[in-house]
Amino acid sequence: MCIFCKIVNKEIPSNIILENEEFLAFHDINPKAPIHILVIPKVHVDSFNEVDPQMMKNMTAFMHDVTKELKIQENGYRVITNVGEDGGQEVRHLHFHIVGGAKLAWSHLSDANPKSMI
Ligand code: AMP
Repeated sequence: MCIFCKIVNKEIPSNIILENEEFLAFHDINPKAPIHILVIPKVHVDSFNEVDPQMMKNMTAFMHDVTKELKIQENGYRVITNVGEDGGQEVRHLHFHIVGGAKLAWSHLSDANPKSMI
């Protein structure tokens, strides 16, 4: 069972901020910004590649509730999902990072020449 499934089953503790029947939002254990929340579906989905668009509809509504709960809608935030090896996905259970609480940098994303793909 993957680590996030264990968090869903409460076999591993997490600092939960919002939960419903389908989704869970909890604090990232290694925050990269003053606010760093992970939002996951309770059913196991490997990554964004496999997500059911119908589930995304409900997940989007849940993420809106999370940003309201965090009171970051006005100041702004960033939503990120890493996919696979190139995307830097470490945990193979779909998750969206919601980061905010400060002005976020938009620095280099890769050491490869950005123009090399054009
Ligand atoms: P990613 O690199 O997109 O797969 O992100 C995985 C994220 O999960 C990282 O930001 C980790 O800090 C976070 N993480 C790993 N284990 C835990 C855990 N037990 N509780 C909370 N966050 C975790």
